[in-house]
Amino acid sequence: MSNNIHPKSVAIIGGGLAGLAAGCALSDSGYKVTVFEKRPYVGGRASSYEHPGTGEVLDNCQHLLLGCCTNLIEFYQRLGVADKVRWFDEITFMEPGGRISRFVPKKFLPAPAHNVPSFISVPMLEMKDKIAIARAMSAMSRKLPADSEENFLAWLKRHGQTEKAIKRFWEPVLVSALNEDLELISVRYAAKVFRDSFMKSAEAGRMGLPTIPLSQLYAAAIGYIQSRGGEVLLRNSVSAFTPKADGVALPAVMLRGRLISPCWPRRFRASATCCPMMSFPRRLEPSWSDSDLRLSPAFTFGLIVKLRICRMPRCLTGQSSGCSTSQSFRRSAKAREVMLNSW
Ligand SMILES: Cc1cc2nc3c(=O)[nH]c(=O)nc-3n(C[C@H](O)[C@H](O)[C@H](O)COP(=O)(O)OP(=O)(O)OC[C@H]3O[C@@H](n4cnc5c(N)ncnc54)[C@H](O)[C@@H]3O)c2cc1C
Repeated sequence: MSNNIHPKSVAIIGGGLAGLAAGCALSDSGYKVTVFEKRPYVGGRASSYEHPGTGEVLDNCQHLLLGCCTNLIEFYQRLGVADKVRWFDEITFMEPGGRISRFVPKKFLPAPAHNVPSFISVPMLEMKDKIAIARAMSAMSRKLPADSEENFLAWLKRHGQTEKAIKRFWEPVLVSALNEDLELISVRYAAKVFRDSFMKSAEAGRMGLPTIPLSQLYAAAIGYIQSRGGEVLLRNSVSAFTPKADGVALPAVMLRGRLISPCWPRRFRASATCCPMMSFPRRLEPSWSDSDLRLSPAFTFGLIVKLRICRMPRCLTGQSSGCSTSQSFRRSAKAREVMLNSW
């Protein structure tokens, strides 16, 4: 590899949330960042599109964040867009049939007691379910369980959870947060979700919804990186990279649909691959296997309806037929759009 590599140059492959956050943090630390993004816009899954029928701008994914998403909040602060998130203290569950249960933290109570009054009064659970949940919460509150072969469903059953507690409490929260069935979720990560969002503090459990389209939220990162000497190259798809002892070469880059290879002059000291595994650039050497990785698909669908079909502007749901529908938001006053995230 040639000696003229910029000593602090970093190639970031993927201009989604992860790539942009890494790019901004590295730029602040004095690195010269080049973000390669194959699409004509940044944000990746956290982006928006204009609906051809209504002209409204709708978001694809990442509809909400929680107060415990401290890295994401720090990223928004860095970009100067933290005030574009509206926060709600209350988390609402809606059962099949429409009954509502509200968790409203009591800020005058110390954590983790701040949710106890709501928890005792919510109608979605019977007393025996609540006692079981309290017992399981207490078990995970002592310390974060170590990673083990046990899945979270087995752990819940071992800790005496009722069917209703699993279906109405544990499952809607975890499917929403980790995008997976309970029997495929590790105990450690499930416990982290509940410890961080329910037990840490009232602020940690707040729900934040962006007030501007996601594409606008993340577009601020382009100027941020450029103003610190970096660049964001749109329509640039990296199809392979070669790690070396003293850096990394990108021998196959598609620029606006044309392959620039193999004598493309750019070399970087380091690279970060920030894209989903199915679009991972091929690493040329040494070879590696991704056979132990599997997909866990999630999708959003937007319903544009004339009637009001849900009285809650936002809530956690569950138990729909065939798949878990875990979150519902009314995001648009004009079209009465209801976003349903499904797994
Ligand atoms: C339906 C759904 C709902 C969700 N809801 C929420 C939510 O409510 N709250 C929440 O916090 N999270 C949510 N998420 C998760 C969140 O949207 C993602 O975790 C996050 O956007 C992923 O960001 P990323 O940068 O890791 O990946 P991506 O957003 O996939 O970004 C990867 C980027 O890399 C680019 N790329 C890929 N291959 C190449 C290549 N070879 N060369 C150059 N560029 C390339 C892609 O174009 C893309 O821009 C949801 C996800 C889904 C699918």
